Amino acid sequence: MARHKKLIAFDMDGTLLEGRIIQALAEKYDFTDKLYKIQSNQNMEGYQKSQKIAYLLKGRHADEVTKITSEMKLIKNWRQAIYELQSHDYVLGIISDSYKFACDYLAEKMNLDFVIANDLKVDENDCLTGDLVMPFGWEKIGCSCKISVCKRYHLEKMAKKFEIDIQDTAVVGDTVSDLCMIKRAGTGIAMMPKDRMLEDVSDVVIKTHDLNQILPFVL
Ligand SMILES: [Zn+2]
Repeated sequence: MARHKKLIAFDMDGTLLEGRIIQALAEKYDFTDKLYKIQSNQNMEGYQKSQKIAYLLKGRHADEVTKITSEMKLIKNWRQAIYELQSHDYVLGIISDSYKFACDYLAEKMNLDFVIANDLKVDENDCLTGDLVMPFGWEKIGCSCKISVCKRYHLEKMAKKFEIDIQDTAVVGDTVSDLCMIKRAGTGIAMMPKDRMLEDVSDVVIKTHDLNQILPFVL
């Protein structure tokens, strides 16, 4: 009998990466105060915050995003865990509300199959314009997340694309932006969750930053 294919979608910041790209960029270019101010604004929807935050990067060279990603620490045992999953014919990818430049870098390094993320626009000199192309999705399915990348919508879309039943999907994430996909996936895994709400809806909660820890729950 043919092996049953499964799909796993990973969040990037705080999940595959130790730390967050925008935080690292903010520290490097000294805009942590501005970043915090936007992030903690209660009067803006998630996607509006993403737009404002992207504007803080205006004028930076696009290579800076990839460079900072290459300097960040990755989750422990990623090589081993990904090898194990791929040898079981799993489809693996990233669904992130971070930046596509960073996700593409990571996906290539980790040999992953798909990337869904926000795209930073560049000018003719490859400098960031401050504009963000957001994949959304919540407006199509009535999801309440209202963030730049509705992870539930894109999980469903990838499952359909790779012809995998939604029950045969697993997701791994750490913040409330992962909430809607964690609820929807066959197996929702909270990796070092930053929010109690996430723990409550997840099937599995992992409290060490080690990708091998997910294997018993998905294989
Ligand atoms: Zn959503």
